[in-house]
Amino acid sequence: MTDISAVLAKVPTGLLINGRWRDSSDGATFDVENPATEEKLATLASATGEDAVAALDAAVAAQEEWARTSPRFRSEILRRAFELVTERAETFATLMTLEMGKPLAEARGEVTYGAEYLRWFAEETVRHYGRHTVVPEGTLQMTTRHKPVGPCLLITPWNFPLAMATRKVAPAVAAGCTMVLKPAKLTPLTAQYFAQTMLDAGLPAGVLNIVSSKSASGISTPLMADHRLRKVSFTGSTAVGVTLLKAAADNVLRTSMELGGNAPVIVFDDADIDVAVEGALAAKMRNGGEACTAGNRILVQEGIAEEFTAKFAEKIAALKIGNGLDDGVNVGPMVEAKAVANLESLVTDAVDRGGRAIVGGTPVEGAGHFFAPTVIVDAPKDARVFREEIFGPIAPVFTFSDEAEAIALGNDTEYGLASYVFTGDAARMYRMADGLEFGLMGYNSGVISNAAAPFGGVKQSGLGREGAAEGIEEYSTVQYIGQRDPYAV
Ligand code: NAD
Repeated sequence: MTDISAVLAKVPTGLLINGRWRDSSDGATFDVENPATEEKLATLASATGEDAVAALDAAVAAQEEWARTSPRFRSEILRRAFELVTERAETFATLMTLEMGKPLAEARGEVTYGAEYLRWFAEETVRHYGRHTVVPEGTLQMTTRHKPVGPCLLITPWNFPLAMATRKVAPAVAAGCTMVLKPAKLTPLTAQYFAQTMLDAGLPAGVLNIVSSKSASGISTPLMADHRLRKVSFTGSTAVGVTLLKAAADNVLRTSMELGGNAPVIVFDDADIDVAVEGALAAKMRNGGEACTAGNRILVQEGIAEEFTAKFAEKIAALKIGNGLDDGVNVGPMVEAKAVANLESLVTDAVDRGGRAIVGGTPVEGAGHFFAPTVIVDAPKDARVFREEIFGPIAPVFTFSDEAEAIALGNDTEYGLASYVFTGDAARMYRMADGLEFGLMGYNSGVISNAAAPFGGVKQSGLGREGAAEGIEEYSTVQYIGQRDPYAV
């Protein structure tokens, strides 16, 4: 039995500014709640705009010396952080289940996945090469160097409380940037404990500052207008991303935007149906459907629609819903009451337009923000479940006739993050990759995120890539030195 109070006692409740945990300047606080029980978990200091600027002061003061540290020094800190997060895995996993609701097994998976960014970028730090060459005319020796972008504002969402933080902090450390991190107010505990873990790993004071707050814009507005800030990296909804891009334009800030998604899961009649059912289930139901990569629209070729839907619905109906800390739970609560109300309205809209919920379709009575895993069939393509990011355990199944229609339907969204294709034909896989306007494509797999892979979208799903070799570039700027060639005539 997990000792919840012992886990919560490890979480610092203040703001981390210049290596010290402290209260907010006006003494304000906010509560964090368990979405499975609606009980209060903790009370944290709520940063004000003034605190945010103090955090930026610390980041700016630390930047020059931090930029001069050796790649090996930063690499070793990331490596130690990887080891500490791994040692503390059970605490991190329990915290995530408590504040966000995901089943403990998935929270443990997120610890492994999130920690991998620390290990990956520990390795990338010492292999971030520039180049040296002679310009074509032979008149200059050309050297390119990487420099850190400078102080960064990192804003993370509630759905992956650890991984979304490590995916930004690790490459920023690798590149030599200092940071102000603002986690989502619904799930700040994991990030608070992660920030302490980074200090324990040897990160110098001021390099990572954390300003949890009940007012997101109260933090971002003064920081993004401050000329000392050089970059904003945001993961969250497209609507907020657009607001931040506008603010970034005024200050000509570098931006990385990981925004919403509306992933198609496309199943062709030559696919292994059982593999496709498992893949669609994972893509849709991982994290209770509260993922930007979640399979939002299940598109099945007509000839196999009946067989696929029957098998898929059977799997969804068998999912166990409940408190993520309990054994055998597959789907936890939604993060807040508002999310449940939105899911209910999505089902009502689909049914009003002729759709049918063949599994689930309703909230679960009682304490906690639960919504039954749901399968909808016969909804038209103008239904909200086709057009909007569902962000919950509702799987609408649609049909298509041929490859051209599958591509057209897949692309019929303003989003372009993840897509999934199930087919037995490798040549078709490449044609689909050509046709689909998405930054990520799973081929016969419903789970594709990996620290070694470049993660990011096109269209309204965002700008930039996280993870992989590309990840460090988001926090680096290139400087070119042109040296008069000693042999030039
Ligand atoms: P959100 O946009 O409401 O919030 C994200 C973060 O932005 C939070 O920290 C929040 O406090 C902050 N925020 C909210 N309003 C703000 C404002 N006006 N100024 C500055 N910051 C503000 O999103 P969410 O509900 O936390 O997360 C869900 C969304 O995130 C979904 O759209 C999902 O697809 C997206 N997401 C994308 C990725 C990706 O990598 N592309 C990953 C996870 C989640």
